[in-house]
Amino acid sequence: MRRRHHAVVVPFPVQGHINPMMHLAKVLRSQGFIVTFIHTDHVHSRMLKLNSCSIGEEGIQFRHIPDGLPESDCRTDFAKLASATENTMPILLRNLIHEINERRDCPPVTFLVADFFAGWALDVAHHFNIPAAAFWPGLIATYAIIHHIPSLISKGVIPSNVVEIQLTVIGLTLLEHEQGQLSYVVNCIPKDRVMVKYLPSMPPLYTANLPWLIGNNADKEFRFQFWVRNMNRLRKLKWVLCNSFHDLELPILNMFPEEVGMCPIGPFISDLSREKTTNNQSLWREELECLDWLDMQSSKSVIYVSFGSIAILNERQLEELALGLETTKQPFLWVVRSDLMERKQAVFPSGFLKRVNTNKQGCIVSWAPQTSVLSHPSIACFITHCGWNSTMESITAGVPMLCWPYYADQFLNCAYIVHVWKIGLALNPNDRGLIEAEEIKTSVWRVTMGEECAEMKENVAKLKGSAMGAVKAGGSSYNTFNKFLQDMDMNTASDGLGSPCS
Ligand code: UDP
Repeated sequence: MRRRHHAVVVPFPVQGHINPMMHLAKVLRSQGFIVTFIHTDHVHSRMLKLNSCSIGEEGIQFRHIPDGLPESDCRTDFAKLASATENTMPILLRNLIHEINERRDCPPVTFLVADFFAGWALDVAHHFNIPAAAFWPGLIATYAIIHHIPSLISKGVIPSNVVEIQLTVIGLTLLEHEQGQLSYVVNCIPKDRVMVKYLPSMPPLYTANLPWLIGNNADKEFRFQFWVRNMNRLRKLKWVLCNSFHDLELPILNMFPEEVGMCPIGPFISDLSREKTTNNQSLWREELECLDWLDMQSSKSVIYVSFGSIAILNERQLEELALGLETTKQPFLWVVRSDLMERKQAVFPSGFLKRVNTNKQGCIVSWAPQTSVLSHPSIACFITHCGWNSTMESITAGVPMLCWPYYADQFLNCAYIVHVWKIGLALNPNDRGLIEAEEIKTSVWRVTMGEECAEMKENVAKLKGSAMGAVKAGGSSYNTFNKFLQDMDMNTASDGLGSPCS
């Protein structure tokens, strides 16, 4: 007899975390779970404004609690949002679970899934003595770096003063990896930017591109401590669910001993039928008309451009991108969020909008139904900031990428796209950090028509096939998820939690 589980799902309150956790919530619901999905008041009210009647999903209850910031504050400062949520939400979530457990109209909470970025929620699960899983929202290789921070520090690969990493870390070579032991030769010649192969089977990464090295020193330090703190919480867990799949990251997955509990259960594929295109968990209004515009374009002709929900561009870069797209002479669909420019409206080069409208070359929207866009037959390539969701969505749709990483894990995602999976190219900035129009034009040509394009298309088509296979009955992700469900059932079977279903 299977128990009727009641799962509480806690995402970090930004778009790129809400989307995959919502997917996870739906999968749990499809397995007979009752699901309570936790939003912050801010996210909830933003969604209510966009979805006139409700933000409901059949079978999923939404509850919302304050994130600890005044409503007028903007939520783009990571350190501010992460500290506020961590300081404020645990006690509120505790109270909420107490309240749910006292109700007679639904079973008590038996299980909790916390975003890695909302690791504090695992402490709440511990308080109630219910089993919990973490959700890792990125590439498993990024997780591997964070997981290995203590050994990387002890071997001198990452200096203990993490903030000064660009000045102190040095060329080094990974020698071997045996039974989890890493061994490096460290050359102590300080350099500004060196490439380091941090773990076996991982492409080299600039030291400056480690995922916590963002912003000023205080930001870097905050992020580093945040990663370490949450990783320590996860070290005691049995399951780390991830939106990735076995064939995509096999060598890295093999590095983890079983007790780490990595469970790749992706890709999280949306239902792409037109009627269900709208993501009612969007924080921006989706402009569905762009799908009609795509219908009018030839097969595999359109460049799709999007930088996700957080990245911002400066004016000069926006101008160069606009000119680059125009000079490709290919149709393009470009997402220009209302907050893509810091505190300003986007200003396009003189005459640009008129020209691309008149010759019907471009469609500019403020938010697109991205998964439907990527699977549209007219899409040729994706200029992306390499956010993990966007990367997985592109792989699942079989679309090659032009990589424009912005920060955090996006550089490692880019390295995998370009050097490991060989399904895209990197856009290279000039020595002032600007990606020029000519670079954009040439790279679009290379990825869609150039010599290397056939190989990239073949590789991404193969990965798309593996992705689809992974989630089918009998596939690796399907099996991993079922094994996780069985384990979870066993973990709750004897502790009197939950109520049995008839
Ligand atoms: N997205 C969307 N419409 C857009 C741009 C992005 O629906 O116009 C979605 C995209 O499908 C993805 C998420 O927003 O699921 C962005 O997540 P990602 O990890 O790629 O980037 P982040 O926003 O976290 O930097």
